[in-house]
Amino acid sequence: MLKKILKKLEPTATTLVAVSKTKPAEAIQELYDQGQRIFGENKVQELTWKYEALPKDIEWHAIGHLQTNKVKYIAPFVAMIHSVESLKLMKEINKQAKKNERVIEILLQFHIAEEDTKFGLDLSEAKEILNSDFYKNVENINVVGVMGMATFTDDKNQVQNEFRTLKNIFDQLKKEFFESDDSFKEISMGMSGDYELAVAEGSTIVRIGSLLFGAR
Ligand SMILES: *Cc1c(COP(=O)(O)O)cnc(C)c1O
Repeated sequence: MLKKILKKLEPTATTLVAVSKTKPAEAIQELYDQGQRIFGENKVQELTWKYEALPKDIEWHAIGHLQTNKVKYIAPFVAMIHSVESLKLMKEINKQAKKNERVIEILLQFHIAEEDTKFGLDLSEAKEILNSDFYKNVENINVVGVMGMATFTDDKNQVQNEFRTLKNIFDQLKKEFFESDDSFKEISMGMSGDYELAVAEGSTIVRIGSLLFGAR
Protein backbone atom coordinates (compact mmCIF):
# COMPACT_ATOMS: atom_id res chain seq x y z
CA MET A 1 0.00 0.00 0.00
CA LEU A 2 2.87 2.41 0.76
CA LYS A 3 4.24 2.08 -2.78
CA LYS A 4 0.80 2.56 -4.30
CA ILE A 5 0.17 5.75 -2.32
CA LEU A 6 3.66 7.13 -3.02
CA LYS A 7 3.11 6.56 -6.71
CA LYS A 8 -0.07 8.66 -6.57
CA LEU A 9 1.73 11.44 -4.68
CA GLU A 10 4.80 11.46 -6.91
CA PRO A 11 3.58 13.67 -9.80
CA THR A 12 2.83 16.56 -7.41
CA ALA A 13 5.73 15.82 -5.02
CA THR A 14 3.26 15.70 -2.13
CA THR A 15 4.76 14.69 1.23
CA LEU A 16 3.35 11.65 3.00
CA VAL A 17 2.96 11.69 6.77
CA ALA A 18 2.24 8.10 7.86
CA VAL A 19 -0.18 8.45 10.77
CA SER A 20 0.79 5.70 13.18
CA LYS A 21 -1.40 6.58 16.19
CA THR A 22 -2.51 3.54 18.24
CA LYS A 23 -0.22 1.25 16.16
CA PRO A 24 2.69 -0.67 17.73
CA ALA A 25 6.36 0.08 17.14
CA GLU A 26 6.69 -3.04 14.95
CA ALA A 27 4.14 -1.68 12.47
CA ILE A 28 6.09 1.57 12.21
CA GLN A 29 9.39 -0.27 11.84
CA GLU A 30 7.87 -2.23 8.96
CA LEU A 31 7.10 0.96 7.01
CA TYR A 32 10.46 2.39 8.03
CA ASP A 33 12.15 -0.63 6.48
CA GLN A 34 10.30 0.15 3.25
CA GLY A 35 11.78 3.66 3.31
CA GLN A 36 9.15 5.80 5.03
CA ARG A 37 10.71 8.37 7.39
CA ILE A 38 7.90 10.78 8.34
CA PHE A 39 5.38 9.62 10.92
CA GLY A 40 2.51 11.47 12.61
CA GLU A 41 0.99 10.99 16.05
CA ASN A 42 -1.80 12.81 17.87
CA LYS A 43 -0.95 12.03 21.50
CA VAL A 44 2.08 13.38 23.34
CA GLN A 45 2.66 10.28 25.44
CA GLU A 46 2.62 8.04 22.39
CA LEU A 47 4.93 10.38 20.48
CA THR A 48 7.51 10.35 23.25
CA TRP A 49 7.67 6.60 23.77
CA LYS A 50 7.76 5.93 20.05
CA TYR A 51 10.54 8.49 19.61
CA GLU A 52 12.54 6.63 22.27
CA ALA A 53 11.82 3.17 20.83
CA LEU A 54 12.36 3.75 17.12
CA PRO A 55 15.23 4.86 14.83
CA LYS A 56 16.40 8.41 15.45
CA ASP A 57 16.25 9.51 11.83
CA ILE A 58 12.45 9.39 11.89
CA GLU A 59 10.84 12.81 11.47
CA TRP A 60 7.99 12.99 13.99
CA HIS A 61 4.99 15.22 13.28
CA ALA A 62 2.46 16.15 15.99
CA ILE A 63 -0.91 16.29 14.25
CA GLY A 64 -3.54 16.33 16.99
CA HIS A 65 -4.93 18.82 19.48
CA LEU A 66 -1.99 19.79 21.69
CA GLN A 67 -2.26 21.00 25.29
CA THR A 68 0.08 23.83 26.21
CA ASN A 69 1.40 22.06 29.30
CA LYS A 70 2.55 19.08 27.21
CA VAL A 71 4.65 20.92 24.62
CA LYS A 72 7.77 20.49 26.76
CA TYR A 73 7.75 16.72 26.29
CA ILE A 74 7.96 16.84 22.49
CA ALA A 75 9.97 20.05 22.01
CA PRO A 76 13.36 18.26 22.14
CA PHE A 77 12.65 16.20 19.02
CA VAL A 78 9.42 17.03 17.17
CA ALA A 79 10.00 18.12 13.56
CA MET A 80 6.66 19.75 12.82
CA ILE A 81 3.51 20.61 14.78
CA HIS A 82 0.43 20.68 12.51
CA SER A 83 -2.15 21.72 15.06
CA VAL A 84 -1.30 25.25 16.20
CA GLU A 85 -4.52 27.10 16.85
CA SER A 86 -3.77 29.81 19.42
CA LEU A 87 -1.22 32.47 20.28
CA LYS A 88 -0.86 30.88 23.70
CA LEU A 89 0.21 27.56 22.18
CA MET A 90 2.55 29.30 19.76
CA LYS A 91 4.23 31.15 22.62
CA GLU A 92 4.76 27.93 24.54
CA ILE A 93 6.21 26.13 21.50
CA ASN A 94 8.60 29.03 20.97
CA LYS A 95 9.63 29.00 24.64
CA GLN A 96 10.27 25.25 24.71
CA ALA A 97 12.04 25.28 21.33
CA LYS A 98 14.33 28.01 22.66
CA LYS A 99 15.14 25.95 25.77
CA ASN A 100 16.18 23.14 23.44
CA GLU A 101 18.07 25.51 21.13
CA ARG A 102 15.88 24.48 18.23
CA VAL A 103 13.58 25.98 15.62
CA ILE A 104 10.32 24.03 15.36
CA GLU A 105 8.26 24.15 12.17
CA ILE A 106 4.57 24.75 12.76
CA LEU A 107 1.36 24.89 10.74
CA LEU A 108 -1.62 27.05 11.61
CA GLN A 109 -4.68 24.83 11.92
CA PHE A 110 -7.90 26.21 10.44
CA HIS A 111 -11.45 25.21 11.10
CA ILE A 112 -12.80 24.29 7.67
CA ALA A 113 -15.25 21.50 8.55
CA GLU A 114 -18.91 21.74 9.35
CA GLU A 115 -18.55 19.84 12.65
CA ASP A 116 -17.81 22.05 15.68
CA THR A 117 -15.71 19.29 17.16
CA LYS A 118 -12.81 20.00 14.84
CA PHE A 119 -10.43 22.55 16.26
CA GLY A 120 -8.91 25.47 14.47
CA LEU A 121 -8.57 29.15 13.75
CA ASP A 122 -10.50 31.34 11.36
CA LEU A 123 -8.75 33.78 9.04
CA SER A 124 -9.18 36.85 11.25
CA GLU A 125 -7.78 35.06 14.29
CA ALA A 126 -4.77 33.96 12.27
CA LYS A 127 -4.15 37.50 11.04
CA GLU A 128 -4.34 38.76 14.60
CA ILE A 129 -1.64 36.28 15.62
CA LEU A 130 0.58 37.12 12.64
CA ASN A 131 0.23 40.84 13.35
CA SER A 132 1.08 40.47 17.04
CA ASP A 133 4.29 41.92 18.51
CA PHE A 134 5.12 38.44 19.77
CA TYR A 135 5.09 36.98 16.27
CA LYS A 136 7.12 39.80 14.76
CA ASN A 137 9.99 39.04 17.12
CA VAL A 138 9.71 35.28 17.27
CA GLU A 139 12.91 33.26 16.78
CA ASN A 140 12.37 29.60 17.60
CA ILE A 141 9.34 28.73 15.51
CA ASN A 142 8.94 28.83 11.77
CA VAL A 143 5.38 29.07 10.41
CA VAL A 144 5.61 26.95 7.25
CA GLY A 145 1.95 26.72 6.25
CA VAL A 146 -1.60 25.74 7.12
CA MET A 147 -3.49 22.58 8.11
CA GLY A 148 -7.13 21.58 8.07
CA MET A 149 -9.48 18.63 8.34
CA ALA A 150 -12.53 18.29 6.13
CA THR A 151 -15.91 17.13 7.35
CA PHE A 152 -16.30 13.35 7.61
CA THR A 153 -18.90 12.86 4.88
CA ASP A 154 -19.48 11.05 1.59
CA ASP A 155 -20.41 14.37 0.00
CA LYS A 156 -17.42 14.98 -2.26
CA ASN A 157 -18.52 18.47 -3.20
CA GLN A 158 -18.55 19.53 0.39
CA VAL A 159 -15.10 18.08 1.07
CA GLN A 160 -13.78 19.71 -2.10
CA ASN A 161 -15.21 23.08 -1.04
CA GLU A 162 -13.58 22.78 2.36
CA PHE A 163 -10.21 22.01 0.79
CA ARG A 164 -10.66 25.00 -1.52
CA THR A 165 -11.39 27.16 1.50
CA LEU A 166 -8.09 26.10 3.07
CA LYS A 167 -6.18 26.71 -0.18
CA ASN A 168 -7.70 30.22 -0.32
CA ILE A 169 -6.67 30.90 3.26
CA PHE A 170 -3.14 29.78 2.41
CA ASP A 171 -3.04 32.06 -0.65
CA GLN A 172 -4.27 35.05 1.32
CA LEU A 173 -1.77 34.57 4.14
CA LYS A 174 1.03 33.98 1.65
CA LYS A 175 0.26 37.27 -0.06
CA GLU A 176 -0.22 39.33 3.09
CA PHE A 177 2.46 37.93 5.40
CA PHE A 178 4.85 35.56 3.65
CA GLU A 179 5.36 36.84 0.12
CA SER A 180 9.14 36.83 0.43
CA ASP A 181 9.33 33.80 2.74
CA ASP A 182 9.94 30.65 0.71
CA SER A 183 9.51 28.39 3.71
CA PHE A 184 5.78 29.22 3.94
CA LYS A 185 4.68 26.65 1.38
CA GLU A 186 2.78 23.82 3.05
CA ILE A 187 -0.90 22.93 2.92
CA SER A 188 -1.52 19.89 5.13
CA MET A 189 -4.84 18.41 4.05
CA GLY A 190 -6.13 14.97 3.06
CA MET A 191 -6.45 11.69 4.97
CA SER A 192 -7.13 8.07 3.98
CA GLY A 193 -10.61 8.76 2.64
CA ASP A 194 -10.01 12.03 0.83
CA TYR A 195 -6.31 12.43 0.05
CA GLU A 196 -6.66 12.21 -3.73
CA LEU A 197 -9.23 14.98 -3.66
CA ALA A 198 -6.94 17.01 -1.39
CA VAL A 199 -3.98 16.60 -3.73
CA ALA A 200 -6.12 17.75 -6.65
CA GLU A 201 -6.97 20.88 -4.62
CA GLY A 202 -3.34 21.75 -3.88
CA SER A 203 -2.36 19.79 -0.80
CA THR A 204 1.41 19.55 -0.22
CA ILE A 205 1.25 17.20 2.80
CA VAL A 206 -1.22 14.35 3.26
CA ARG A 207 -1.72 12.59 6.60
CA ILE A 208 -2.64 8.97 6.01
CA GLY A 209 -3.29 6.40 8.73
CA SER A 210 -5.79 3.60 8.24
CA LEU A 211 -5.05 3.11 4.55
CA LEU A 212 -1.42 2.29 5.47
CA PHE A 213 -1.80 0.55 8.80
CA GLY A 214 -5.30 -0.88 8.65
CA ALA A 215 -8.34 0.19 10.64
CA ARG A 216 -7.86 1.45 14.19
C1 LIG B 1 -5.98 10.12 12.61
C2 LIG B 1 -5.66 11.35 11.86
C3 LIG B 1 -5.35 11.30 10.49
C4 LIG B 1 -5.35 10.01 9.68
O1 LIG B 1 -6.63 9.51 9.53
P1 LIG B 1 -6.91 8.25 8.57
O2 LIG B 1 -8.35 8.43 8.21
O3 LIG B 1 -6.67 7.04 9.39
O4 LIG B 1 -6.03 8.35 7.40
C5 LIG B 1 -5.02 12.48 9.86
N1 LIG B 1 -4.99 13.66 10.51
C6 LIG B 1 -5.29 13.75 11.82
C7 LIG B 1 -5.25 15.08 12.47
C8 LIG B 1 -5.64 12.61 12.54
O5 LIG B 1 -5.92 12.72 13.84
